[in-house]
Amino acid sequence: MTTPAVRLNFPESDIAQLTFDDPDRGANVLSQGVLQQLEQHLDELLSRDDLAGLILSSGKPGIFIAGADLREFAAAENPEPEWVQQMCRRGQELFARLANAPFITVAAIAGVCVGGGAELATWCDRRVMADDAKTQIGFPEVKLGLFPGWGGTARLPRMIGLSNAVEMICGGDSIPGAEAYKLGLAEDLVPPERLVAAAINMIRAEAESGQYRKDRQRWSQPIEISETELAFLAATGSAYIQQQTKGHYPAPMAALETMIEAASLDLEGACRLEAERFSTLFGTPVNRALINVFFLSDRNKKDPGVDDPAIKPGKIDSLGIYGAGIMGSGIAAAALKRGLKVALTDAKAEALERGVRNTLEEASYDRKLRGPSSQRLLELAPRLNGTLRDEEVTSAQLVLEAVVENPDVKTQLLAKVESLVGEQTLIATNTSTIPINRLAKALKHPERFCGIHFFNPVRRMPLVEVIRGDQTSDETVATAVAFAKRLGKSPIVLKDGPGFLVNRVLFPYMNEALQLISQGVPIPEIEKAATRFGMPMGPIALYDMVGLDTALYAGTVMHEAFGQRYEASPILIDLVKQNRLGQKTGRGFFRYDNPKGKPEPDPELEQLLARHIEGRVELSREQITHRLFLPMLLEATRILEDELVRDPRDVDLGVIYGIGFPPFRGGLLFWADTVGADQIMRWLEPLVELGPRFEPTNVLRDWAQSGRRFYHILP
Ligand code: NAD
Repeated sequence: MTTPAVRLNFPESDIAQLTFDDPDRGANVLSQGVLQQLEQHLDELLSRDDLAGLILSSGKPGIFIAGADLREFAAAENPEPEWVQQMCRRGQELFARLANAPFITVAAIAGVCVGGGAELATWCDRRVMADDAKTQIGFPEVKLGLFPGWGGTARLPRMIGLSNAVEMICGGDSIPGAEAYKLGLAEDLVPPERLVAAAINMIRAEAESGQYRKDRQRWSQPIEISETELAFLAATGSAYIQQQTKGHYPAPMAALETMIEAASLDLEGACRLEAERFSTLFGTPVNRALINVFFLSDRNKKDPGVDDPAIKPGKIDSLGIYGAGIMGSGIAAAALKRGLKVALTDAKAEALERGVRNTLEEASYDRKLRGPSSQRLLELAPRLNGTLRDEEVTSAQLVLEAVVENPDVKTQLLAKVESLVGEQTLIATNTSTIPINRLAKALKHPERFCGIHFFNPVRRMPLVEVIRGDQTSDETVATAVAFAKRLGKSPIVLKDGPGFLVNRVLFPYMNEALQLISQGVPIPEIEKAATRFGMPMGPIALYDMVGLDTALYAGTVMHEAFGQRYEASPILIDLVKQNRLGQKTGRGFFRYDNPKGKPEPDPELEQLLARHIEGRVELSREQITHRLFLPMLLEATRILEDELVRDPRDVDLGVIYGIGFPPFRGGLLFWADTVGADQIMRWLEPLVELGPRFEPTNVLRDWAQSGRRFYHILP
């Protein structure tokens, strides 16, 4: 017999407790099987007349219920809207039995309570929450391109007010117990160990006061709100959502509209409307793409970075960093925030002084204060050692170099570091372009050396590329991966190769933007095609942000590796000569004279570009989009052919977290799957004459012929 996922016991003779504790999973999820077990228990409990109350709780530390089973969602290929509506209705009707029970129902929430779990809790008469740091409640469905479909949009506004519910459901962020208590979403807040006792007390108090009956009545009615208030909420809410989503993510707007429209309906009517509207989002391309991103990130969290399960990562508690510039200080701050001891050094005393200051300022930054918190500063400062003495840096468990991007400087430094460190110490480089195998030549023990490539700015960019050289050991890779995760990052492991992953796929895209300029396509049209596709900024503005000199240098590396396919554009060379390096010099493709440093068109640029522009081709937005993103995709398929990634999904995680590829497209390869390889081949046909960069790769041809996908979303 299988162990049940929902256990029934009786903490007191007239109080039942259902504990969710799925033995087959780390987290409780509301799969069809679990819902069935809940139903069977309710069948039994609701037929009894000797119960005063029912408590819902979790047997898993740190988690109440994580929500619906997304694998079941993802498995539903092309679902009919009627089927989806029925699925919602079944859930709503099951949960509604809690709100109509002949006894008082209380959710005793400790740990994460989100999605379907939060809906289940809102169908109870009362909620008691633990006051610890792990406990939180929220409705993150919009992040998956959905909104709550088991009564969440109907129950929550009736409980905490329409405006609060709109904020929670359309925003998708979870809130801690204390905030839920303030909103009236939780009626009691207690230490985790007192949760069940508090739930029992609440049942006794409610039985006495009968208040829950009045609330049941109130929550089953339309919401009391004036037409004016409703219209105001609809207008401000939709303006905000439009600004945030730019129309790419339909779920928040659909949630808002559903809740506004359902305000005048009773609970039953609101539930029906919810089910109907939910079915218009479920299974759409955006929903599928966002579920894919969820799986990508979930897989990444569990991936140790090596295939051999016997390999255990070492634990890094102390970090030594060479180079206190932009990257060195950013990495130092990330490590300090996560409790590591950091020794930071630089060849120049003044650079070190500035680096230490930047590190502390960033690590102690407090969002509420909008500046450094002196309390945090006092806590963190003793763990940061700004030093000019090598031995204080090399005594760390991991020594990372983030000095200037110069192979000679780096090889000399690495050899020195190796001569000073202990046998167990890991050595790593943050280089963006220099091959790891080339740097490894400077070392006697290349097996303990790898690339740990952070992105700029470190505090905002979640991606880290862990690059293994030919001789890097599995232990080194596993330790580097665990280290990056400890810093809150999402590491992907790659084999060594020019541009690694992110820069290699980014370069063809950016380079193509310059090709378009030289064909006379106006910059605003190029930028718009990229941002309409969903990129956070256009490729031309990105040049200015990265720095045109840096881009030119990266281009040289790509040209050396791939020859004719990628040649530096004369436009770039010319602008660098004119010292138009981008934001850092106040002039690049745009100018940055205004106080906010916003990019503005520069009339001088036109003259500069004129000598590079040969005629004017008329391209539609779709054609420009193909020109920009197909080279990126082709390069990704070459990366697959070169077997640089361990799994195609790492490409998609890399582009989303490393360059802001739009999550609503699910990733670069996921997007290609959605389009279909045969269609991509058709798009490429007229472009091949532009050069070898548009030549379909073998992988793409194979996939087009066989109808295969780049990868399947179900792991
Ligand atoms: P930076 O110029 O801001 O800082 C480099 C620092 O290294 C300088 O303070 C310099 O004085 C110091 N330095 C030079 N030689 C040294 C030596 N022998 N010993 C100790 N210190 C020395 O550069 P950065 O932007 O922080 O880049 C550092 C590394 O990170 C480079 O390899 C770069 O390619 C890589 N990287 C940069 C970015 C980025 O966007 N800036 C992103 C990812 C990776």
